[in-house]
Amino acid sequence: MALPRVRIVTLNAALGPLDYRVPDGTAVEPGQVVVAPLGPRPMIGVAWEPERLPTEEVGDNRLRYLSSVLPGPRIAPALRRLCEWTADYYLSPLPAVLRMVLPSSYALHDQRQLTEYRPTGLVPPRLTPQRTVALERLEGRQGTIRELAAHAEVSDAVLRGLVNAGALEAVQVDGDRPLDCPDPDFGPPQLNSDQQAAADSLVQAVGRGFDPVLLDGVTGSGKTEVYFEAIAACVRQGRQALVLLPEIALTEPFLRRFEARFGCAPTAWHSDLRSSLRRRSYRAIASGEAKVVVGARSALFLPYADLGLIVVDEAHEPSFKQEDGVQYHARDVAVMRGRFEDIPVVLSSATPAIETRHMVELGRYREVKLPSRFAGARLPDMRTVNLTQDPPPRGRWLAPSLVAELEQNLASGEQSLLFLNRRGFAPLTLCRTCGHRFQCPNCTAWMVEHRLMHRLACHHCGHVMPPPKQCPECGDEDSLVACGPGVERIADEVQALFPQARTAVVTSDTIWSPARAADFVAQMEGGAIDVVIGTQLVTKGYHFPNLTLVGVVDADLGLQGGDLRAAERSFQQIAQVAGRAGRGEKPGRVLVQTHDPDAPVIAALVSGDAESFYAAETEARHEAAMPPFGRLAAIIVSSEDKEEADATARRIGRAAPEVEGMAVFGPAPAPLAMLRGRHRFRLLVHAARSLDVQDVIRDWLAGVEWNSKVRVAVDVDPYSF
Ligand code: ADP
Ligand code: ZN
Repeated sequence: MALPRVRIVTLNAALGPLDYRVPDGTAVEPGQVVVAPLGPRPMIGVAWEPERLPTEEVGDNRLRYLSSVLPGPRIAPALRRLCEWTADYYLSPLPAVLRMVLPSSYALHDQRQLTEYRPTGLVPPRLTPQRTVALERLEGRQGTIRELAAHAEVSDAVLRGLVNAGALEAVQVDGDRPLDCPDPDFGPPQLNSDQQAAADSLVQAVGRGFDPVLLDGVTGSGKTEVYFEAIAACVRQGRQALVLLPEIALTEPFLRRFEARFGCAPTAWHSDLRSSLRRRSYRAIASGEAKVVVGARSALFLPYADLGLIVVDEAHEPSFKQEDGVQYHARDVAVMRGRFEDIPVVLSSATPAIETRHMVELGRYREVKLPSRFAGARLPDMRTVNLTQDPPPRGRWLAPSLVAELEQNLASGEQSLLFLNRRGFAPLTLCRTCGHRFQCPNCTAWMVEHRLMHRLACHHCGHVMPPPKQCPECGDEDSLVACGPGVERIADEVQALFPQARTAVVTSDTIWSPARAADFVAQMEGGAIDVVIGTQLVTKGYHFPNLTLVGVVDADLGLQGGDLRAAERSFQQIAQVAGRAGRGEKPGRVLVQTHDPDAPVIAALVSGDAESFYAAETEARHEAAMPPFGRLAAIIVSSEDKEEADATARRIGRAAPEVEGMAVFGPAPAPLAMLRGRHRFRLLVHAARSLDVQDVIRDWLAGVEWNSKVRVAVDVDPYSF
């Protein structure tokens, strides 16, 4: 008779499923988290249905015993199915997906009492430069020594020194403090009739099974207020609701709106949480105590005890696509999770992706519309500034007509926003004498000048260098010039034009945490900022009633490069940033600087005719059998050794199977031909919708071997390429 055994999935992507013997008197169910020996060490795994994970049978006599079963969270069947689906669809190892469910040991080990440290405000008598930096960076922060040291980029020893000097004090954290429970009746809004109809339709869906819904309403129409009612319904049923946001910077304004509606903050989940809070949140999510969770895409794979609703806010945002590791799209996985959990999924957007609109057309998603802005606020007036006819002076980027509008806004005490999707001061530094350009040593990318931080930085790998004083090529001094504008340079221009204006640069460099975002919001609301100069980070979510002018500095920028989604993304970005203007009582106006006012994207934005733009884009995709009408997958082959990457990519290309409905392009150097020191080649697979392209690629790659220094990654449904 066979002995009782269990099959487990580990968290190690290199390992397939493994079998263990179960000690007498222990029962192990699929989904339980277990500890098992591997070599000399114990490791974590999750028990799985053996029939779902076929593997080579190992004889009883060769099996080792399971060490223990952990009391913590259990991975429910719906979540196990989601993990399998994700691994399958995105051609990723199941352990890599499971690591998102069990993101760290805090998930498993109950450490309820914890010592953290925070600044006392006391300045130590002996101030080394490192201590000064540390104290500056740690202002308002709390965490373990290790977390604080990592945040301040100093050693643990520096922080211990500060503790001894009385500049940091210990705080006991109670990991078991009960969470506040959102009260669905705390502050219900007065909805207008459109909003009420939309809310009713969402509320009725809660508790009634799988129901994907596109909540489609112009900016400022009250989509948040409306889906809050669905959350209230979910909380009334005692179940959990999850809201996914595209940026952690948006968490803070969201928390405040949530509090006004529900009387307390929801449970937040993002990378900036200190570990004591993460642990606390994780346990509360797994036990069901956390009724509403708001988070970045990583919140999607957590083991909710009883999930009743998922909302994806700003569902069109590209940041929902994960670009390394398991390259999943959180919007699409959210819908799949909804299917496995049998619950509604609300995708909220003023500028839905063509893929999402297509699902509505096919009748697979329902659409709920909010046709107008709330409280009679009108959509802003939008017009173009033709840069060929109304050019900025040499070395400047703001056209005279935009400057005139800015001046008027400053005079009337209203706020303005200038949008340019480029961080830093200048995207390129060039030597006027010899033409040398500063390039990243690890990537095919220019080093971007950041004046605020006094350095040049690569936006792909994070490589930094001090601002150069002379050209490394020809040695010339005073020959280096900054080419083109970034947001910092536009801020300088505004400052030069209007020295009295109070400006703020808003990018991921200045707003890197929810706390910084909260400061920014407070300053805007308090009227301490006149002109915001920002990247895509300011295009979404924010609601500033006194913001009445939006200037798009370079509307042509996003259209360069010929990417499949270039037009769609430009449309979304400009429509979103325009949506920040005139959200209160005062009307808004938007000036779009462009060299090509007749480009279809710009024309559609100005005329307000989104429908015909979408129709034309959709038709073009249809004709080319591009997504959502056809499918794409990118196979990226990379290695530190260029020859090796190239040769492997070509071998993979030669091994491509002949399949009806599938075409393979390349290999060719990938768009970022070098990234973080690795040379990259790409094969692009184009397939008919009906083809199971994952299956084909799996078999295809299984037949090719490569050296362990070569990495082959498949990006299914790539966002950009
Ligand atoms: P969207 O998400 O569609 O851009 P929001 O939900 O942010 O719109 O709403 C825009 C603004 O209008 C917010 O400040 C919101 O609080 C306010 N608002 C919308 N609907 C209502 C309502 N029914 N009652 C009170 N305020 C509302
Ligand atoms: Zn780089």
